[in-house]
Amino acid sequence: MERGYLDHAATTPVAPAVLEAMLPYFGQIYGNPGSAHSWGGEARRAVEEARGSIAAFLGAAINEIVFTSGGTESNNTVIKGIAESNKARGNHIITSAIEHHAILNPCHTLERKGFEVTYIPVNNDWLVSPKDVEAAITAKTILISIMHANNEIGVIEPLAKIGAIARQHGIPFHTDAVQTFGHIPVNVADIEVDLLSASAHKLYGPKGVGLLYIHQGIKISPLLEGGEQEAKRRSSTLNVSGIIGFAKATELAADTMKTEPERISALRDKLIDGLLGKIKDTHLNGTRSSRLPNNINISFGGVEGEALLLSLDAQGIACSTGSACTSAKLETSHVLKALAIPHHLGNSSLRFSLGKATNDKDIERVLAVLPGVVDRLRTISPFYQPAERED
Ligand SMILES: *Cc1c(COP(=O)(O)O)cnc(C)c1O
Repeated sequence: MERGYLDHAATTPVAPAVLEAMLPYFGQIYGNPGSAHSWGGEARRAVEEARGSIAAFLGAAINEIVFTSGGTESNNTVIKGIAESNKARGNHIITSAIEHHAILNPCHTLERKGFEVTYIPVNNDWLVSPKDVEAAITAKTILISIMHANNEIGVIEPLAKIGAIARQHGIPFHTDAVQTFGHIPVNVADIEVDLLSASAHKLYGPKGVGLLYIHQGIKISPLLEGGEQEAKRRSSTLNVSGIIGFAKATELAADTMKTEPERISALRDKLIDGLLGKIKDTHLNGTRSSRLPNNINISFGGVEGEALLLSLDAQGIACSTGSACTSAKLETSHVLKALAIPHHLGNSSLRFSLGKATNDKDIERVLAVLPGVVDRLRTISPFYQPAERED
C-alpha cells in the first residue's frame, strides 16, 4: 500500500545529510566537551561551531544560545526560571489560552504556588490581540510568553507588535517558536524577543535536542543544576551528536526556506479548497492569511476526529486530530475550545501537516479517500442529523 505521512507538525524524519553529519560523533569523536584533554577539545570545537551557525541563523550572538533537550525543556525553563529569578519583582505572567502544554502546565504549577497567570483569549481566527496583551500588564508582570505559530491550527501570531509592547514596558518577552524555526523566517532582531524556544525534530533534525535563546542581560534561573555546563544556564553533558545534527538541520533549512514555503502552501491550499469543496459541513479552523505554509485544520461536522484518523491510517495516510485523547473520554482540544465553535464541530477536526516529501499525489490521495470515509462515518453515526447534510 502507498503511504503518505502528513503529520510533520508532530515530528519529521531525520534528513539523510543530518544523519551523516551526526554519525562520527558517536564512535569516533566521542569526547566530553567539558574535558580538558584533546578528545574533549575536539568535541567542544564541533559544538561551538554548531552553536555559531545556529546563532547566525537566528540573528543571535553565539553566547545567547543554550542547548536543551527540546521544546518542552526550553519552555519549562522559561516559565519556571523567569518566575524564580524575578519573584522579588512580581508574580504575574501573561500568556495565551492556546499555548502548547509545555507552557500551560508549568503555568498551572506556578499558580498553585501563588503566581498569577493571565491566559489571553484569542479573537476570531485564533489570533492574540496585542491590545489585550497590553491591557493585561500590571506592575507585577514579569513575563509575557506568546507562541509564534500554533501547533494545532497553524495560525501565526502578531509577535512583532506584542514584542514592541513588551519592550516598551520593560517586560521579558518569550516565544515558543518550535513550529516556525526552520520553516519561516525567525530572527530575534526582527521580532524583538528576549527568549525563544526551538526544537530540532520539527525541522528534520534528531529528537531530544533543542535550544533556548536568552538575550544578553536576561536573568533566568536554571531548571537543571549540576556540572554548570552552558555557562551555568543548563547543566548536563552536552548532546554532541544531537547538536551537530541540529546545526546541520538549520543549515539545510536556510536553503529549503527559500522555495519550500511557496511550494507547500500551494499544496496546502489545494487540500483546503478540495476538502471544503467536496465535503459538506466542513469548516477550516484558523485564518488563511496568517497561517503556516504546511498546516491544514478542518472540522468535519458530526464525525469524530479520532474515527477519521484511524480510517485514514488504515488507508496509509497519517494525520492527527485537534483533540487530545485522554484515558477515558475524548476531550476537545484546548485550542479549539478557546473559540466558541458549534458543538458538533468540537471533536471533529483533523490536522494535516505537510513536509518536504509531500507531493501532489499525497494531496490527491487524501482528496480521493476522505470524502468516502466521512460519508460512511456520518451514515453510521447516531448523532449526525441528515438535515445538516442539506445545507
Ligand atoms: C512539538 C512542540 C513542542 C515540544 O517540543 P519537544 O521538542 O517535542 O519537547 C513545544 N511547542 C510546540 C509549539 C510544539 O509544536
